[in-house]
Amino acid sequence: MAVSSPSSPDLDQRCRTSRESLQTPTLARTGRLIVFTGPSGVGKGTLLRALRDRYPALQLSVSATTRAPRPGEVPGQDYYFVSREQFEAMIDRNELLEWAEFAGNYYGTPKEAVLRQIEAGNWLILEIELEGARQVRQSFPTALLLFVLPPSLGELEHRIRQRGKDSDEAIERRLERARVEIAAAPEFDIQIVNDDLETALAQLEQAIFDR
Ligand code: ADP
Ligand code: 5GP
Repeated sequence: MAVSSPSSPDLDQRCRTSRESLQTPTLARTGRLIVFTGPSGVGKGTLLRALRDRYPALQLSVSATTRAPRPGEVPGQDYYFVSREQFEAMIDRNELLEWAEFAGNYYGTPKEAVLRQIEAGNWLILEIELEGARQVRQSFPTALLLFVLPPSLGELEHRIRQRGKDSDEAIERRLERARVEIAAAPEFDIQIVNDDLETALAQLEQAIFDR
């Protein structure tokens, strides 16, 4: 379902330049913000890991959250794990580009780091939920907004359970929220169905580089 743009020699040249520059960290680029949204368990992390293996210069924003770390998660790398008090202080000090409450916890994007990355010419990906994506669309209208869909709700539940990192209660909350998020997919610039991983990855590359 990814939408492709009409091709032209100019566009092709620009795409090649962007692809190369993201494979080669030293080439100059114009900064860009990419928002990556989709229900928990749809495969966003899996797709982003594969994308960054191919394009190491793509940057991933590290969010703050009040959720407890899952086994194997590294503070400062996967998330900044903070208390509710610390998170609310960040809101009060206007330090977040966007924030939302999701499944009983706060999640938000530290603003200063984003602005620094964009000014440095980096391409930065925010992997965030729906409410946050809507806030970024308002405050950063040039951001590219991508939405990842599951092939079905049944397959989504299967993936969350197979990941084996959430309690039954957390899984129920995530599935409930998934229905709301999926209904909002048309608000995004591009929708990608993560059925076959390689196909979804190819569509993701096309969405990012062919615009
Ligand atoms: P998210 O980051 O969106 O919460 P994950 O990347 O953690 O999702 O993926 C959830 C589970 O689904 C993982 O076990 C992952 O291996 C699996 N998964 C991801 N993409 C696919 C796919 N295309 N087909 C089958 N399983 C997938
Ligand atoms: P998880 O607990 O599975 O890591 O994340 C739950 C949800 O929070 C996911 O949909 C993820 O995209 C979203 N999320 C992660 N970081 C942020 C953030 O900084 N802001 C917002 N709004 N959502 C986030």
